[in-house]
Amino acid sequence: MNNPWKSYLKVTEKVMEKLNLSETQKKDLTEPDRVLEFKVPLGDKEYNGFRVQFNNARGPYKGGIRFHPEVNFDEVKALSAWMTIKTAVVDIPLGGGKGGVEIDPRSLSEEEREELSRNFVKEVYEYIGPEKDVPAPDVGTNSQIMDWMLDEYEKLTEKEAPATFTAKSVENGGSKGRTEATGQGGAYILESLASKINLKEGDSIAVQGFGNVGSEFALAVSKLGYKVVAISDVDGAFYREAGLDIEKIKECVGEGSSVPECGKKIHDDGQEINNEELLTLNVKVLVPAAIENALTKKNADKIKASAIIELANGPTTPEADQILQKKVTVVPDILANAGGVTASYFEWLQNRKKEKWPKDKVFTRLKEVLNKAFEEVWTRAKKEEVSLREAAYEIAVERIAAAQ
Ligand code: NAD
Repeated sequence: MNNPWKSYLKVTEKVMEKLNLSETQKKDLTEPDRVLEFKVPLGDKEYNGFRVQFNNARGPYKGGIRFHPEVNFDEVKALSAWMTIKTAVVDIPLGGGKGGVEIDPRSLSEEEREELSRNFVKEVYEYIGPEKDVPAPDVGTNSQIMDWMLDEYEKLTEKEAPATFTAKSVENGGSKGRTEATGQGGAYILESLASKINLKEGDSIAVQGFGNVGSEFALAVSKLGYKVVAISDVDGAFYREAGLDIEKIKECVGEGSSVPECGKKIHDDGQEINNEELLTLNVKVLVPAAIENALTKKNADKIKASAIIELANGPTTPEADQILQKKVTVVPDILANAGGVTASYFEWLQNRKKEKWPKDKVFTRLKEVLNKAFEEVWTRAKKEEVSLREAAYEIAVERIAAAQ
């Protein structure tokens, strides 16, 4: 299995050389500021927990907490580094961090999930806070978990500090539009991309992963007139050439059924396929929105899409990237999925200023930030004759180095 930390280093080291960074600047981009490794108790068991604070040159550490059975230190470290790059690509005044617990949250009852979330905070509360480190959800966590975590944090610190966590429920200080923001942001990126390459309404899209990000993206692009022909989750994939009714499938998945089950229930003229088949479908745009390493040297050659929008973090291994860059326009994760952290930044601002923005204000500002970042990355890539990924890293590394 490809190591995401090595994927991060591969691009970063190349870009740091090109930009002539000093040894200190290089160290700041290749070694985390602080690593917290601990055991999170739950009942009579303990699970490995991590919080990595990678770099805060541009503002407080910012990044999600993942509950997943394959969480490990190198993964969390890579994710925290990518957050540092991502916040710089979209030019918001935050740094990068990430956390996680090596556990399968699907094996837990609601009470156990709450206990785990509160126990995680007991381990890290002295190191987080609105000006220090601001966690959010990631794979396997959600706004309910952020609400529990904030409650625990405020109990332990005996102060009110809603800006300590983002993507909380709206009733508990969360921002309107945050739930949709990463997927919606991906749709804004698709629109920006469509203005550059041959993409138009009615074009076909396949989305791997139908959780928060994948389902919101699929819904947003369906509304724009694109045809989402395939979606998937961990249980399998579903394909319908004429396009899927995303709204109905999302509702069905929300009630607890899997993507293939819901697909079959709603479309009797569609077919169940597997996740590998989804990746190699003859579609215009492919959107990995599940976990790391979906696109590898084994399947990169078989990919037929003209564009890939990386909504998952690290979905493409470096070997696959080399193959894909020759034939596909790849919008890298650090730009494509930055809608989430940008809306989290808006939530942090609202909490600190005691404001509540309407959803259309959140989306208008989100679109502005992402369009600007996309244009900057696109222009740099053309000028330097590099991939969009390298261009995005170059812009970010310059900004971080300038802030150190
Ligand atoms: P989620 O837990 O809500 O959904 C994950 C989805 O992927 C689920 O449908 C799950 O069944 C599916 N999945 C898991 N393993 C799979 C596999 N092996 N094959 C196919 N599907 C699989 O998580 P999410 O919040 O939607 O995050 C998805 C990705 O987007 C992650 O890489 C995450 O780091 C990234 N991301 C999330 C946000 C956010 O705001 N939530 C922001 C930026 C990036």
